[in-house]
Order: sequence, then C-alpha cells, then structure tokens
Amino acid sequence: MITTISFLGLGTMGGGMASNLLKAGYKLTVWNRSAEKCKPFARKGARLAESPAAAIRDADLVIYILSNDQAVEEVVFGANGILSGIKEGQIAMDMSTVLPSTSLREQEAYAKRGADFLDAPVFGSKNESANAELWIMAAGKKHTFEKVKPVLQHLGQTIHYFGKNGNATAMKLVGNLIVALEMEALAEGLVLAQKAGLDLNTVMEVVKVADFRSPLLVSNGQNILKRDFSPSFALKLMLKDADLIEKFGNSLQSPIPALRVVEKNLAAAVALGFGNENASALIKALEKEAGVQVKAQRAG
Ligand code: NAP
Repeated sequence: MITTISFLGLGTMGGGMASNLLKAGYKLTVWNRSAEKCKPFARKGARLAESPAAAIRDADLVIYILSNDQAVEEVVFGANGILSGIKEGQIAMDMSTVLPSTSLREQEAYAKRGADFLDAPVFGSKNESANAELWIMAAGKKHTFEKVKPVLQHLGQTIHYFGKNGNATAMKLVGNLIVALEMEALAEGLVLAQKAGLDLNTVMEVVKVADFRSPLLVSNGQNILKRDFSPSFALKLMLKDADLIEKFGNSLQSPIPALRVVEKNLAAAVALGFGNENASALIKALEKEAGVQVKAQRAG
C-alpha cells in the first residue's frame, strides 16, 4: 500500500494536487524549482527537499507535473534528478503533458533502475486540480496502475487506464487537439458575433444551451466577455501543446490542418505579449486582425 509520496512541481496544477494528497493523509515530501512555493506545504506538515533525488528518498511513489519536456529532462535525467536517487521497487508517475516518446524514454530509464513508471496526464484546470475533480488517464503495467489507483482517486473524478506506457500521454494530446480547436472556434465565433453587432450576452446564452455546447466554451466565453484572462491554463502552455500535437501528428502521418492554423494564432498572441495570460487570450490575435475588442455590452 502506498503511504509515502514525493511531489515535485507545485505550479498551478501541482499545488492543488499536492494539497489534496496532504488532506488525504499521505506522508508527503515536496520539491519545487522555486523553493518559495514549498513554504505553504511545510506549514501543513510536508517535508521539504533540496533536490529531486533527495525528495524521493523514502517514497513509495514519486509524482511530478512540470511545464514541458525540457523540465522533465532536467528533473528526471539531470544532475540530482529523480533517476540518480530512485531505487528498486519505487514507482514514478509523470502527470505532465509531454510527448509519448518522452514517456517511453522515462519508462526505459526507470526500468534499468528496477523502478516502475506510469504516464498519467490530466484534463481539467486550476479549479479541478484544487477540488480533486481532474479527469485522469494512466498507462503502464496494470499491477502498478492498480497500486497507484487509490492515490489517483484523491486527485480526480474519473480515471481511465490506457494500457502500455505512452498511451496516456497520446490520449492527452488527442484531447488537447480538440481543446485547441474548440478555443479557436470560440474566438473566431465571438469576433464574428461582435462584428455582426450581436448582443454577446445573448450569444453566450445560446452557446450554453445549444447542441454544440461544452463547459470549456461556456467558461472561457464568459470570461472573455468580462475581459478576464487570469491564467488557469496559460496561453504559452497551449502553444507548447500545439507544438507537441504537431510533432506527434507528423510522426504518425495523421492530418492536422486545422491545428496548424490554431498554432499560428497562438504564436501570434504570444508574440503580442499575452503568453502568461489564459489560453483564451488567443482571441487577442484575432481581435487585432479584426480591429475589434470582444466585450459584454452589459453585465451578464
Ligand atoms: P505552471 O503553473 O507553469 O507550473 C509548472 C511547474 O513546472 C512549476 O512547478 C515549475 O517550477 C516547474 N518547472 C518548469 N520548468 C522547470 C525546470 N526546468 N526544472 C524544474 N521545474 C520546472 O504549469 P501548470 O499549469 O501547473 O502545468 C503543468 C503541466 O500540466 C504542464 O505540462 C501542462 O501542460 C499540464 N496541464 C496544465 C493544465 C492547466 O490547466 N494549467 C491542465 C492540464 C494539464 P517553478 O515554480 O520554479 O517555475
């Protein structure tokens, strides 16, 4: 049974997840590149570690959720990284959004040390992370998954097992392809509605109920109308994911023509300086081109 967990990466997603594991009663050690993010966890009883290798010393399970492939490279494979400290019998679980080929490299490297590995990325954002309502996918050996499942139940509302390593990260990229296209559709639709002189609150009332409705369109649409771009999922991370989807799609010769258009708009919005805002700030690139700003004419 897993009782002792190390958690690395206390960002938007990791912060909420680590808090939920502490609440669930696990013995938790935390590490974050910027050490100040560890302090609130120390106050709640977590042990602080100096490095990834030190963090995993007595852990049954090490969980990490980091920005991108480069961060995983440093934290897993780098000096004082997880691989330099992990021991036979321990389990590592990467919940970051990375390339499936990165998950496979991790699995092979851990196997050489006698450690098991799961790739287990998530859907949901800041609120779902804080409220233990994530939608989790996991891949790796079935018996490892079964051991870790009780931990995942403290983080998410659904858990889907995807078989061999790399499949869960592949599913994450499939899902994020759909998310990227939904965000582009929302942005293009709202700009068009604004240009057409429609009442945008009424537009959103229709988006909320019609047969193309989705929670993602509703929450992002309402925030755009309020000009609230505070980050739950940063625009620069969505651009990073678009790049991963493009690489993944190309590697399988799977057509992704619409994704290329979204990627161009994401890059344009980042170039305008909105990379740290929410991914919905993608609309700002279209607004510039259209010469309009999408904003509610009245309080919604
Ligand atoms: P975030 O708030 O930017 O946090 C990123 C974390 O990675 C921080 O702990 C950061 O440390 C760490 N990090 C970055 N580069 C590093 C490096 N070179 N070495 C060590 N640590 C490094 O990002 P997030 O929103 O939590 O996202 C984390 C992952 O989850 C990403 O892969 C993202 O695509 C995925 N994801 C995000 C969402 C979402 O809605 N936010 C949803 C699903 C999946 P510092 O604190 O020192 O910067």
